[in-house]
Amino acid sequence: MKQILLKSGREKSVLQHRPWVFSGAVEQVEGDPAPGETVAVRGADGTPLGWAAYSPESQIRARMWSYDPTDTIDGEFLRRRLAAALDMRRQMIPAEETNALRLVHAESDGVPGLVVDRYADTLVMQCLSAGMEVWRETIADLLMEMTGAARLYERSDADVRRLEGLPERVGVVRGDALPDGRVQICENGVRFWVDVERGHKTGFYLDQRRNRARVGALAAGRDVLNCFSYTGGFAVYALANGAAHVTSADTSADALALGRENAALNGLPEERAEWVEADVFHLLRKYRDQARTFDLIILDPPKFAPTAALVEQAARGYKDINLLAFKLLRPGGILATFSCSGGVTPDLFQKIVSGAALDAGVDAQILEKLEQGPDHPVALNFPEGHYLKGLICRV
Ligand code: SAH
Repeated sequence: MKQILLKSGREKSVLQHRPWVFSGAVEQVEGDPAPGETVAVRGADGTPLGWAAYSPESQIRARMWSYDPTDTIDGEFLRRRLAAALDMRRQMIPAEETNALRLVHAESDGVPGLVVDRYADTLVMQCLSAGMEVWRETIADLLMEMTGAARLYERSDADVRRLEGLPERVGVVRGDALPDGRVQICENGVRFWVDVERGHKTGFYLDQRRNRARVGALAAGRDVLNCFSYTGGFAVYALANGAAHVTSADTSADALALGRENAALNGLPEERAEWVEADVFHLLRKYRDQARTFDLIILDPPKFAPTAALVEQAARGYKDINLLAFKLLRPGGILATFSCSGGVTPDLFQKIVSGAALDAGVDAQILEKLEQGPDHPVALNFPEGHYLKGLICRV
């Protein structure tokens, strides 16, 4: 039988149903499993602990499929896992809220390495582990059958594929290609174009949906600065909620162009929106030097700490932009600030933001703490799945 034996004393994390088996915990690999193949996982004394997908290239040497040694890992097993994920969304996320959401959130939905996002009738999947790569065709068939979607794209071009020894793969997997690679979605009554072929991740930052609604609701009558705007998610919500003016900044000209289109798509007044191609670190300094001020500033930067080793450097980046933002806020102004770096804990993030306010010479209060939405659940035994945190602060 193909199996991995754990080192004595290293069974604990599997017994706690933590899905990652690190290379350092493995005593022996038997039967020469291929990348992604299912292996039995056994404790040092031979006790069966469950089943995992083997990944010879990765530090995460195996990802647990199941902690039940009587399970069989096959198409029916995957069907049950996908059905559970789909049912949860049907029950927890009203159709009126959105037609774009994450259907499968990898480890946190018991399907390690698989992300599936729905954009109206289009699905986009990412296979991010050797184990998922093996089941790709089966998953594609199951997804089409179980969701009734018109097409399925693959965007397996995330960096983590390299750590698994996998090449990039993108393109249409089932159904026909979209004209221009774009699909229109509607969340909370606002419409967006999503570019599923060239956009970031699978095309849109679905994890911020409820936060866009929260922050948008604070925008009425305010002069807003939307930093790291991407395709205008927060900007469109702010304008739709009656913001006096919204300045959006991003380094990507393509993202800004789509942002402008998204504002137009919702019939929002062009003269109240400004789209600035700029590095936010420089732009905030420029506005500080010009003594320009705002009533609401949104900071939604990319992941500054892709790995745990870069947390300190990331902390300096967060401190810098938050400090500058606090300086640009008028009295009574609001900062909506986010971090999507998994290595930066909510506690650490709050400390960074509080240090930034102190150094900026402002007193501020936290009005609300924000998280990723429920279509990005966090399995209790997989705290690594909690990556997005935000604070709404008032000065
Ligand atoms: N708030 C957006 C998502 C932001 S993603 C939404 O709700 O949809 C982060 C964005 O930051 C990306 O669009 C990326 O192009 C941009 N970006 C990365 N580094 C930047 C920098 N230094 N200055 C400005 N924009 C940057």
